[in-house]
Amino acid sequence: MSKPDYAIGVDVGGQSVKLGLVGEDESLTRVRRQPIDGQTASARDITETVTQAVGELRDEVKSDHPGIVAAGIVFPGIMDRERTRLEFVANLPALSGSAILADLRGRLDLDVIFDADCNAAAYAEYHQATQHNVRRMIGVAVGTGIGAGVIVDGQILRIRNHIAGSLGHVCIDPHGPKCGCGARGCIEALASGLAIMAEANIRADAEPDSRLGRVLKKGQSITGETLADALAAGDPMATDIVHTAGWWLGAGIASWNAIFQPQLVTLGGGIAQLGQPWLDAVREGFRQTARPAEVDALRIEPARLGPDAGIIGAGLLALHHHRVS
Ligand SMILES: [Zn+2]
Repeated sequence: MSKPDYAIGVDVGGQSVKLGLVGEDESLTRVRRQPIDGQTASARDITETVTQAVGELRDEVKSDHPGIVAAGIVFPGIMDRERTRLEFVANLPALSGSAILADLRGRLDLDVIFDADCNAAAYAEYHQATQHNVRRMIGVAVGTGIGAGVIVDGQILRIRNHIAGSLGHVCIDPHGPKCGCGARGCIEALASGLAIMAEANIRADAEPDSRLGRVLKKGQSITGETLADALAAGDPMATDIVHTAGWWLGAGIASWNAIFQPQLVTLGGGIAQLGQPWLDAVREGFRQTARPAEVDALRIEPARLGPDAGIIGAGLLALHHHRVS
C-alpha cells in the first residue's frame, strides 16, 4: 500500500465536531466546525454528523489529496479495550456505553483509528517538542476538568482503557474538598476551571463589596471572562484565587513527576488562557513541592497548538498507525 501523506483528524466535543486535513509534516488545513448539542444529541445523530463531515471534506479535497486513506477520531472519554464502544464520555451523555466506534468504522470507507482527546492533544504537542530531545512528556488540558496524556518514547502510555490513568484525580490534599469523582482532595477538585469558579463564587458571596462580589450583587454570574478581567486589572481576590489554583496544579505536577519523570509538561485548555500569573503559580507550586534534585529537570510550558491540538493529534495518530499496519 502506498504511503499516505494526509489524514483527516476529527475532534468530537460536547459542543461541536471539529475536523481538518493533517499532513505528515504536522500541517493542519481545511479546518471546519460542525456545531452539535452534546446534551441532547443521540449516538445516531453524532455518527451521522461525523460521517457526513468526513465525507464532505474528503470529496472536497479529492483532486488535491488523492492519498487520504486514514482518519483519526477522538472523543473526550474512554474506550473499551477493543475500541468498539465508548465507556464514558464527558459532555456527550448519549455516547457513554454506545457502540459508536464500531458504527463509525463500518460507515467510513477509510482506515479509522479512535483515541481519547487528551491522548491526541498530548501526542500533537509531543511532535512539536521532539526537536528539543524530549522523550517523556505529559500534555495537560485544564478546562472544566483536568485531562492529561502521557507520552513515553513517542508512544502514548496506555495502562487501562487506552489512557495512562486518571491523572486529574491524583490526591494532593487528603483534607481538601470532595471531588466530583467521589474522592477527596483531587487535583481536579483544587485546580480545575470548575474548582476556580466555585471558589470565586464563595469568596464573592462572602465579600459583597469586592469587585467579584459586586458582580453577584448586580444579579450577574461570575464567568471565566469576569475573572480574567479582574485578574488583568490586578484585583487582589481574583489574583489570589488564580494563584492558589495554579499552585495546586503545580503540586499535582510534582506528584506526576515522581511517577513519570517527564522532561516537559505542556499546559493547554481554557484555564491556560489566564496566562502568565497562572503559569507562574503553577511553576511555583511545582518548585515548592517537588524533590529539589528533580526541579530543574522538568520544564512546564504553555501548549503550543491551542484548541486545534486534538485534530492534529488525531490526524497524526491515524497517519502513523496506517504507516505501520
Ligand atoms: Zn476526583
